[in-house]
Amino acid sequence: MKLLSIVVPCYNEELSIPYFYDALSDVGSTLLKNQIEFEIIFVDDGSTDDTLAIIKKYMKQDSRIKYVSFSRNFGKEAAMFAGLENSAGDYVAIMDADLQDPPSLLPEMLEILEHEDYDMVATRRVNRVGEPRIRSFFAHHFYKLINRFIDFEIVDGARDYRLMKRTAVNAILSVREYNRFSKGIFGWIGFKTKWLEYENQKRVAGETKWSFIKLLRYSIEGITAYTTLPLTISLWIGMIMCIISIIGAVYVAVGTLISGQSGQGWASLVCIILFLGGVQLFGLGIVGEYLSKTYLESKRRPIYIIRESNILSSEKKPLGS
Ligand code: UDP
Ligand code: MG
Repeated sequence: MKLLSIVVPCYNEELSIPYFYDALSDVGSTLLKNQIEFEIIFVDDGSTDDTLAIIKKYMKQDSRIKYVSFSRNFGKEAAMFAGLENSAGDYVAIMDADLQDPPSLLPEMLEILEHEDYDMVATRRVNRVGEPRIRSFFAHHFYKLINRFIDFEIVDGARDYRLMKRTAVNAILSVREYNRFSKGIFGWIGFKTKWLEYENQKRVAGETKWSFIKLLRYSIEGITAYTTLPLTISLWIGMIMCIISIIGAVYVAVGTLISGQSGQGWASLVCIILFLGGVQLFGLGIVGEYLSKTYLESKRRPIYIIRESNILSSEKKPLGS
């Protein structure tokens, strides 16, 4: 029998977990018929509600349930990493707790990895029904922008919902950066990936944890993690400004020599100074963004800290197995 580990990041999901567990139990019997056992690894990402208590309740009645509970909220990226690191399966799936990633797709995904020459099966939603228009608009343009700059693809509409073979999981675990942007890491590691498409599902209970500001920060994370083009652009703007100012200076000097009087125009001068000040601060901000990332990486802090767990370290698959 092969083992499938299902990693479920949970942050304040007390309302969703019962639905999730029921849906997965239904799929479980189909999997068993195909000679596949599964374990669920709930990663409690520092929830402040009863998420952990509910996980423990299910754990008592079902030995397939494992959990890792963080000392505080470290974010979904850290939760996914912890889940992968604590998984023992030959196959590993990552799924949200809110049933936006339909478990009914799992048998089909497994079928593909078992019988076709792929290492990962990933999912993308073909529409964004139920999501605010403005959020879809920004998300769409973010993917367009970032894909211009990088030499692999970050797929628009890709969910974190995917099934992977152990080799791919190990590759992800070997990327130990602190500022994690999984959608990029999944693409960066390469491997043969098959994409499945499905209609967007609404959250079964509870609320989304992503505010607009959080998403904006996440997108800046994505850009700075995979391309240094903004730095190059600010360098170019600086150079072009220098050239224009030299030409301008020569023009004014020659004009003054010929006409004998210096030109007026303090208003335009103020505008130019303000504009250049803005460009400089903008450029400095870009440099600062990269510098802060380097600073955080150089501290080599752990990606997450566990408060409690029922997974023994001997159960984890060592890297390279
Ligand atoms: N999540 C998490 N930590 C966080 C935020 C979210 O583990 O800091 C989990 C959350 O519990 C859910 C998944 O990540 O299982 C996706 O979150 P959500 O549904 O809020 O995002 P959306 O589907 O709206 O993009
Ligand atoms: Mg969701």
